[in-house]
This record gives sequence, structure tokens and C-alpha cells, in this order.
Amino acid sequence: MIKALGYGNTAATAPLERMEIDRRDPGPKDVRIDILYCGICHSDLHTARNEWHGTTYPCIPGHEIVGRVTAVGAEVKGFKVGDMAGVGCMVDSCRSCSECKDDLEQFCAKGAVFTYNSPDAHLGGMTYGGYTNVVVVDEAFVLKVPAGLDPAGAAPLLCAGITTYSPLRHWGAGPGKKVGVVGLGGLGHMGVKLAHAMGAHVVLFTTSAGKTADAKRLGADEVVLSKDEAAMKAHAGSFHFILDTVAAPHSLDAYTTLLRRDGTLCLVGAPEYPHPSPTVFNLIFGRKSIAGSLIGGIKETQEMLDFCAETGLTADIETIPVQKVNEAYERMLKSDVKYRFVIDMSSLK
Ligand code: NAP
Ligand code: ZN
Ligand code: ZN
Repeated sequence: MIKALGYGNTAATAPLERMEIDRRDPGPKDVRIDILYCGICHSDLHTARNEWHGTTYPCIPGHEIVGRVTAVGAEVKGFKVGDMAGVGCMVDSCRSCSECKDDLEQFCAKGAVFTYNSPDAHLGGMTYGGYTNVVVVDEAFVLKVPAGLDPAGAAPLLCAGITTYSPLRHWGAGPGKKVGVVGLGGLGHMGVKLAHAMGAHVVLFTTSAGKTADAKRLGADEVVLSKDEAAMKAHAGSFHFILDTVAAPHSLDAYTTLLRRDGTLCLVGAPEYPHPSPTVFNLIFGRKSIAGSLIGGIKETQEMLDFCAETGLTADIETIPVQKVNEAYERMLKSDVKYRFVIDMSSLK
């Protein structure tokens, strides 16, 4: 057993604090990663505070993990000691259902094993995420972090990156396509960067007037303040695809109105309470769709990391010591982050 350190909480209303945890010794197919950086995703906050009503405590969040390989099992083929490695939202799945065989482990029929708050088949209890100094993961769920990527800036790619890359690819973002991104947070800013890199015409919708200049710098061709009704109306019926990353309930009609015929509004934001029921007429006049998307499979996550290395893309981050996590959560709720907090794990002692 490996004695490790983590930063988690023991109840929905309790702050996160230092705790001692066990990690399994690496088995034949396992990779041991000493964590350098872990991004803070809004899902970490939803889970730590039991906003999705399924958290088991103690809870140690974190699924945007980058670190150095420090040990490998005898049968590991893809990694060696010293490699830079990443772990995202999943650490295992059944590997035999049709979803797993289609490289869509996130939809595993038996339920993917998520990086935190999933039953841990090895040690019992629940899995602990990346707000820790060590993690041990089967190599099938470990990503290669390309040498050209800054390790801290690459950490958010493991969730925010793949969660936006996958639907943008699935719905064909690229040259000649008008793509909207709603919300300039961790996911949204990666959505803007990736859609721009794919060659789409990108429009960012924000509630924060102060983010306009940044959005343009990040790759948005246009920025619309979603509270400005006239500005919204000017885009009516024009979008092929809109990716909604907002972490709070809001009217979807504002965005289905902006879709052109056969356009899709894809929700990735996962607020605690549902959005108001959408107006059906907005959908039937124009054969429009409201869809959802969940992270992406392991193969596509590697493809996304390689795409980011080729195009020189990483997240815009603010690095913090682990002791500032609770403060970072409060700031994230106020949209006061540019545009992802990343924990420097050397601070966890
Ligand atoms: P985040 O950094 O907090 O960004 C959310 C953004 O939404 C904010 O920056 C803000 O952008 C906008 N926003 C916040 N409150 C709003 C409100 N009341 N009305 C309108 N806009 C509002 O969060 P994140 O880490 O990007 O995560 C976003 C959501 O995606 C969370 O619910 C998270 O759990 C979910 N998520 C889903 C997946 C998936 O696989 N589907 C994966 C990861 C995360 P502006 O200031 O620009 O308006
Ligand atoms: Zn996440
Ligand atoms: Zn499966």
C-alpha cells in the first residue's frame, strides 16, 4: 500500500482539508503517477457539495491530472518511468460492452469507473481524485501528455478540453460552420480555443461584459452579451451548432431561437436543478435538436491532446497551492477565474 496525501471534505457543507489516504501498489498493468498539477473543474464543486445528490464522503475531487510516471507494472507497454502522463475523468470501465468496444468508455453499459466518487474495486470504498500527490491507474486509462505541452496548462485539457473537443468534432465544427459557445469559464474558454483551431466561425455568449476582450484574444470572432436582446436577435436562425457550458439553470429558448435549420444546441453544463422546459415550437420549426454530451472516450482524449500539441493549445490558468482550494471554489462561483484554477501539487505536504 502506498501512503498518500489528499485534499478533500467529509460532508457537503465542510471545507476541503488535508487528509491521509491509501493508494494501491501498482499491479502488472498499472502506472503510478506522482501528480504535479490538477485542474479544478466545476464538477469537483458540484460533487464536493453534493449538488448532484450522490456523493459519498470523504470526497477527494480532481479529474484534470498531469504528473510524472514513477513506477510501472511488469506488463505495462505504453509508459515508462519519467514519462509525463495524464488522467482524466475515468480510471476504468468494463471494456467488453458495445460502448467500450466503440471507444466510448464514458457510456459503458456497466458504468464507467470515474476518477472520484465511484466504487473502487481495488481498495473498497470510493475512488479518490487528483487533489492528491499520487495516483495509480491501469495504463488503458492513462494518457500521454505530448512533450510540447506545458504540464500545468495541459491539466485542464483532461476534462475541459475533451468535454468541448468531443461534441465540436461530433457535430462537425470546422470551416464554413457558425459555432456558438455559451459561458466563458473553464469549459467555455477551451470550447472557444478549440472551435477556432478547427476553423469554425466562433461566437461567444457571455453574461460578463468584462470578458469580451479576452474572448476575442482566445479565438472568438464575435462576442454577444446574452442579456442584450437586440444583439441576440441579430443572430436569429444562423447557428449550425451551439455548445452550452453554463453551470446554472437558464432558458434554452434564447439559444434554440438562434439555431438554423437542423442546428443543434448541445448541453455540457450540468447544473443541480433542471433548465426551464424548452419551447417545442422552437424545435419543430426548423427540425432543431437539443442534445447532450459527456466528456469523451480515452482514444478521443489522446487525439485531443495530440491536436492541442499540434496547434499549440493549452488552457489559460491561474496556479494555486492546494490550501487555496476552498477560496478558489468561491471565486469559481462568481465567474472570477481566468479561466481555470490549477493546483500546484508540490504544495500538498
Ligand atoms: P465554470 O468555469 O464555472 O464556467 C461556467 C460559466 O458559466 C461561467 O464562467 C459563466 O460564464 C457562466 N455562468 C455561470 N453562472 C451563470 C448563470 N447563472 N447564467 C448564465 N451563465 C452563467 O465551470 P466549468 O468547469 O466550465 O463547468 C461548467 C459546467 O459543465 C458545470 O456544470 C460542470 O459540472 C459541467 N461539466 C460537464 C461535463 C460533461 O462531460 N458534460 C464535463 C465537465 C464539466 P460567463 O461569465 O461568460 O457568463
Ligand atoms: Zn470536469
Ligand atoms: Zn463497458
